[in-house]
Amino acid sequence: MTAAAPPDNAATAVEAAVAAVAAGRATVRVDGDSARIMIDVTGLANDDHAPIEARVRAAALAVEGIASVRIAMTASRPARTLIAVASGKGGVGKSTVAANLAIALQRRGRRVGLVDADIHGPSQPKLLGVEGTKPVARDKVLQPVSTPHGISLLSMGQFVAPDQAIAWRGLKAAGALGQLVDAAWGDADTLLLDLPPGTGDIQLTMIRSHRPAGAVIVSTPQDLALIDATRAIDLFVQAGVPVIGLIENMAGYACPACGAVSDPFGRGGAETAAARLGIAFLGRIALDIAIRTASDDGQPPAAGNGPEALAFHQIADRVVDWIDAR
Ligand code: ADP
Repeated sequence: MTAAAPPDNAATAVEAAVAAVAAGRATVRVDGDSARIMIDVTGLANDDHAPIEARVRAAALAVEGIASVRIAMTASRPARTLIAVASGKGGVGKSTVAANLAIALQRRGRRVGLVDADIHGPSQPKLLGVEGTKPVARDKVLQPVSTPHGISLLSMGQFVAPDQAIAWRGLKAAGALGQLVDAAWGDADTLLLDLPPGTGDIQLTMIRSHRPAGAVIVSTPQDLALIDATRAIDLFVQAGVPVIGLIENMAGYACPACGAVSDPFGRGGAETAAARLGIAFLGRIALDIAIRTASDDGQPPAAGNGPEALAFHQIADRVVDWIDAR
């Protein structure tokens, strides 16, 4: 019978064995023949957690004198840039812009998660082609759903049937938002938050409890939407959340039959309003039937190389500049 290694030696041997497979992420304690190991999984993608755990367990069990191994995994909350995408009123294309901006940011090397907090019309599962996919919870923490476009998603819409209204208010809505924001976002460095339109409970909770780094406001060019957008801007300004800038959506319509460009909702209103309010104008997106059809098919234009992708990519460049300048 081989004698068990003396405790100090066993601890050193386990540390060395584990260090070889866990690259400085493991802390080891050995008690008799059992090892307790803490692995810091901060910054690792969720899919990498089980493999590192298996490697560490195998390495520790291979050490002479170790009969049992207990492993715990921890992650410190990584520094993530939380960006709110807001609008004063519904139907201005806020969710469309949020989905495309998320993809365009991802194309620029950001690791992006998207939180769809629009309780009035959670449309991101459809826009990103993952309708019907339900997120699971592990240890009570929600695991975001991967989309075909390289970003992860959690949406209020994933918890109700598509035709069911979400009658959440106050604490319930706030609790749901907290679970989405504090989910297992893995190595995501940027979280985009698609807010409901207006200035209600969700916006206030988000500002108070989750403190975004900045907000992007989406508006159509016409006056009515701009008046509402100005209110949304004011909410962030009053709360001390920097407004990254204003995006004008549905600006200019190119007739698919004759090519003539008309401006059913006016033109340049958002740029003028941005200048008046002293905030940046991030760009203009045309009213384009290709944007609507691609969005309905779960293929956001920013994921492709069509001409309608360009405006989203130019806006993403400005947002990345803003993030980098922080
Ligand atoms: P919101 O989130 O502000 O309520 P959505 O993003 O759901 O708005 O957009 C409302 C509708 O307008 C959707 O059918 C969407 O496909 C369409 N849409 C949004 N932006 C454009 C655009 N630039 N061109 C054409 N259709 C658009």
